[in-house]
Amino acid sequence: MVEGSGCALCGASWGNVWRDVEGTRLFFCCEVCAVGFTNFVERAKRDAGWSKVDRVRIVGDFRGRKGSVESGGERRVYFFTLNSDGSLRTFLRTE
Ligand SMILES: [Zn+2]
Repeated sequence: MVEGSGCALCGASWGNVWRDVEGTRLFFCCEVCAVGFTNFVERAKRDAGWSKVDRVRIVGDFRGRKGSVESGGERRVYFFTLNSDGSLRTFLRTE
């Protein structure tokens, strides 16, 4: 579901938090990244009206991230930022 071996949100290779997201066990560096990632995926699903997400790709940093989500051959891209507790501060569809 997510490419790369680091934290699913920020790419950091340290840390030890695991969460099941969309039926896949994903690695995160910290609790905030796990919460932020889950919030983003849930919000994107709601926005797109999808019941599931097949693939998520996130690039960027704390100043703003570009999240690409795919479901059943459809793809949407969002720009989002997170608060320090992992809640969404900004959420905009860009593609
Ligand atoms: Zn992280």
